Formats: sequence, C-alpha cells, structure tokens
Amino acid sequence: MTDGGPGRDPDVGDPVCWLDHVCPECSAFNDDPGSPCWRCGITTAGDATG
Ligand SMILES: [Zn+2]
Repeated sequence: MTDGGPGRDPDVGDPVCWLDHVCPECSAFNDDPGSPCWRCGITTAGDATG
C-alpha cells in the first residue's frame, strides 16, 4: 500500500457541519441546536421579534 501523504484526514468533515451547534452568543457547543443554549439560554431556532 502506498501512503497518500501527510495532511489527509478523511475523518474530518466540513467545519460548517458543527457551526450550527455552536452558540453564536457564548460559543458553547450544543448537541441539540434546536434547543436553547445550555449556557446562556439563547435560542437560535426561531427568530422571535419583539
Ligand atoms: Zn450560548
């Protein structure tokens, strides 16, 4: 077998995949982006006006 070369990580996906899981307010990682942030309580799902 031949080595493909360094710097190749097939396990690493696009960083955009987990961007939705990161809180835009406190940068906390939320397993469920649909639920309010466990740290600051902000909710990204549903833009509540008012
Ligand atoms: Zn937060």
